[in-house]
Amino acid sequence: MKRVGVIGGGQLAWMMAGAAEVLGIELVVQTPSDRDPAVALAKRAGSAIASSIIFAPIDDAAATAELASRCDVITFENEFINLEALDSLVQQGVCFRPGLEVLAPLLDKYDQRCYLEDIGLPTPSFTTLEGEAGNQEVNLPKSFTHPLNLQNLDFPVVLKARRGGYDGQGTFIIQDSHALESTWQRLKYAPVLLEEFVPFERELAIIAARSAAGEVVTYPVVETQQVDQVCRRVLVPAAITPTVEQEVKAIAHKLLDSLQAVGVFGIELFLTASGKVLVNEIAPRTHNSGHFTLDACETSQFEQQLRAVSGLPLGNPDLKSGGAVMVNLLGYEHSQSDYLAKRQQLAQLSHTHVHWYGKTESRPGRKLGHVTVLLETANRAEAEAIAQTIESIWYSED
Ligand code: ADP
Repeated sequence: MKRVGVIGGGQLAWMMAGAAEVLGIELVVQTPSDRDPAVALAKRAGSAIASSIIFAPIDDAAATAELASRCDVITFENEFINLEALDSLVQQGVCFRPGLEVLAPLLDKYDQRCYLEDIGLPTPSFTTLEGEAGNQEVNLPKSFTHPLNLQNLDFPVVLKARRGGYDGQGTFIIQDSHALESTWQRLKYAPVLLEEFVPFERELAIIAARSAAGEVVTYPVVETQQVDQVCRRVLVPAAITPTVEQEVKAIAHKLLDSLQAVGVFGIELFLTASGKVLVNEIAPRTHNSGHFTLDACETSQFEQQLRAVSGLPLGNPDLKSGGAVMVNLLGYEHSQSDYLAKRQQLAQLSHTHVHWYGKTESRPGRKLGHVTVLLETANRAEAEAIAQTIESIWYSED
């Protein structure tokens, strides 16, 4: 398969382009705005992203029909799609990888938790709150389907929008019943996921890929560090026991096999002080926690996704270095600067790769780029010190 359609033209599609060039694959992208990162690439001569960008919202199924007419298989860098609307394309023979039936239990955070529970994978205790929009009387759910005891909640709890949340938007740590009521009210009593707050010791993540032939490969387990629910750093590999590492890898295998998935998946997990592993979230696509693979692994997660969806054998996921640290360059102001001076300063650090997504506008929390530094050996303290150096340059005043 030589032409791969990608729904979404953000930085994930942008990072796929380098791998597409190497594999001789042409990318055709459906994305809403001509300021999206993958569009800038398309304008570059010789780019793997064809001039055929389809400008349309992610959930525009008519545009996806047009995308299908221009490529052999369609994959995703963004899952905010309209599954029902895409169903008719499948009837007409369009090939989605991962398939729509694989995405179906994953697009809603509550459905995702139910799926994990059904296949016996560990998750935080959870329920859903379903009220009536605009009904100010509602202060307890009309229905709940799981034994998280709502009458006697152990605060804090975590409330999450069931769909459309990302980078911590739509995730709220709730301290008491008053905050629960007011936060849900602010969400207009839309159905939400409510779950126990996990006092985790660390957050972990793993990227895994499954081919059409059913082969599964996993990348090294990493530690992710969040600030205000947004990923700031990824330390590679995670400093965990072999038992925890095996457990995380077994979770990844079981999940991808159960789903019969084809493609790359990012799985986020909590590790508690007692060594318990719980799945937090599954992304049915390449993931921020796997950006280090671009520079630090034999096969990047982006190449792996293209390999998986186009029917090629999977590549070697092993690290090429002893370790690595990835730091997100998050917007910290409203600006149109391209931060060239800071990027040049970062690029001077040794064994450092700076990736800049070319977004024309910066705003607080927006992912503008990332930096990966390769380490000779896995060393958490060294990785954290390097991350601090990078952040002190990036978040400095001038
Ligand atoms: P998003 O999809 O927006 O990234 P997540 O569900 O991954 O939302 O939550 C973002 C972050 O919020 C997590 O990485 C974690 O730091 C924190 N968080 C989410 N759920 C819980 C929980 N149940 N207990 C403790 N912290 C949580």
